[in-house]
Amino acid sequence: MENLKPNPNVEVKFTKLFINNEWVDSASGKTFPTYNPATGNKIADLQEADKADVDKAVDAASKAFALGSTYRTMNASDRGKLLYRLADLVERDLNYIANLETLDNGKAFAPHGSIGDTMFSAMVFRYYAGWADKICGKTIPIDGNFFSYTRHEPVGICGQIIPWNYPLAMATWKIAPAVAAGNVVVMKTAEQTPLTALYLASLVKEAGFPPGVVNILSGYGPTAGAAITAHPGINKVAFTGSTEVGQIIMRAAGESNIKRTTLELGGKSPCVIFDDVDVDKVVAEAQEACMTNMGQCCVAGTRTFVHENIYDEFVAKSRELAKTRKIGDPFDPTTKNGPQIDSEQMNKILGLIEKGKEQGAKIEVGGQRWGDKGFYIQPTVFSNVSDNMCIAKEEIFGPVQQILKFKDLDEVLRRANDTTYGLGAAVFTKDINRALMFAHGVQAGTVWINSYNHVSAQSPFGGYKMSGLGRELGEYGLQNYVEVKHVCVSLPQKNS
Ligand code: ADP
Repeated sequence: MENLKPNPNVEVKFTKLFINNEWVDSASGKTFPTYNPATGNKIADLQEADKADVDKAVDAASKAFALGSTYRTMNASDRGKLLYRLADLVERDLNYIANLETLDNGKAFAPHGSIGDTMFSAMVFRYYAGWADKICGKTIPIDGNFFSYTRHEPVGICGQIIPWNYPLAMATWKIAPAVAAGNVVVMKTAEQTPLTALYLASLVKEAGFPPGVVNILSGYGPTAGAAITAHPGINKVAFTGSTEVGQIIMRAAGESNIKRTTLELGGKSPCVIFDDVDVDKVVAEAQEACMTNMGQCCVAGTRTFVHENIYDEFVAKSRELAKTRKIGDPFDPTTKNGPQIDSEQMNKILGLIEKGKEQGAKIEVGGQRWGDKGFYIQPTVFSNVSDNMCIAKEEIFGPVQQILKFKDLDEVLRRANDTTYGLGAAVFTKDINRALMFAHGVQAGTVWINSYNHVSAQSPFGGYKMSGLGRELGEYGLQNYVEVKHVCVSLPQKNS
C-alpha cells in the first residue's frame, strides 16, 4: 500500500480500439471525448466504434473461437493461467489503474474507491481462474443401452455492454467468467469511462491471451452498443445498466437471433432497521449503503426504513453524519464523495430532489449542487418520505437518502416488496426470527443481515423482477456462459 500515490496527471496510454490484440483506428475515423467529472475538462479523445468496428471485432472473435484454434485446443488449466496472470498484472499496476479510474470516473482514490475496485478486479480474475478447469458436465444413467453425458460448452461470442459507475470492476465481472468457461468477448465500455478497460486490454495482451479472445471497443450505446445486440454472429449479450436500456437490449437480442441474455439493472433497495440495534453504528452503515460511490450503485440501499421507536433519533443522527461526509477532489486521500459522472446525471438528481421537496418530503441536509466546477451533489438526507413519492420509487443514482418510518415486520416487508425492482435488501436487528422472516420474504437477489454492500467474488449477485436476469459472480455466474450439450451414445450393452 505504501507505493500508492494519487496522481491527477496520470498519463493516458491507450485511446484506440482493441481488436485482435491490436490497437486500431475506427473504420469511420471518428473520435469522441471523455471528461474528468471533477473538473468538466476533457481528458482525451478516443476512437469511436460503430457497426463496422463491431463487425471487425466479431470476425476476430470468430476466428479465435473456430474449432481447432489455439484457444479452442488449449488446456482448460492454461486458460486459467491466463486469468491468473491477468490478476497479477492488475495488481502490479494497481497504482496506475486506480489513478486512471479516479481521473475518468471521479470516484475517490481510496480503499473505498478506485483502489478497492482495482483490488477487487484482481480477486475476481483470480477466483474465475480457478474455475477454468473445474467446469464439468455429468454422466447420466438413462434407460436403455446408452451412455449419456453432458458437456458444459462455451456459448461462443459474448457481447458485453458495461456502465460507467464501476468501469474496471464491470469489465472484470464480465470478462472473467466468460473466459473461464472458454468463451470469446466483444465488449463495449460506457462512453463516459472508456479508459481503464482499454488499459486492461493492454494487460490482456501482455498476459498472453490469443488474438481475438478479448476485444474492447469504446463508443456509444445506440450505435456500437446496438450493433452488438443486433449482430447475428454474437451468441450472447451480457449487460449492466439502466432498466430502460435493458429492455431495449432484451428486445434486440430476441429479434436478432435469440441471444442468451443476462441483465443487471436498476434497483430501489430497502434497508430495514428495527429498534433493537446500536443506532450510531447502523446510522453509519445505512448511510454508506446509500451514498457509497456517490450513490451511483445499482444495489444502493436508497429506501431506509426505520422503526418508529427510533425514527427521530435516527433521522437526527443521519443528518449530522451526512454533514461530516467529506466531499471534494477525488485525488485528495481524505475525500469520501467525489463528483457524479456527468452533468446529465447531476441534473437528473437535482430534478428528483426538487420533486421530493414538492411532494412534501423534508430535506434534513444537502439538496444542492456542491461548488460550481465539476458535477458534485451535496450528501442529501430526506425524512418524512412516503412510499408513493417519486424519491421513494425511482432510482436516483445519487447521494440521496430517503428515511421512511415503519411499525412492524409484516408492514415493512410488504412495503419493501412494493417496487418493480428487486436487487438488494438489508435488515438490521438482533432478533434472528425477524431477520430470517424478512430475508426469506423479501424479493431481492441479495439480502444482507446486519451489513450492507458486501459483494464478493464467490457469491452470486443479480436481481429479481425488473432488476435483472441471471446472476454474476460465484459459481452461479458461470451458468450464463455455458451451453449444456447432451451426448447420447448407443452401446451394445450397458453395465451398472
Ligand atoms: P446509465 O443510465 O447508467 O448511463 P445506460 O443503461 O444508459 O446506463 O448505459 C449503460 C451502457 O449501455 C453504456 O455502455 C451505454 O453506452 C449502453 N447503451 C445505451 N443505450 C444502448 C442501446 N440502445 N443499445 C445498446 N447499448 C446501449
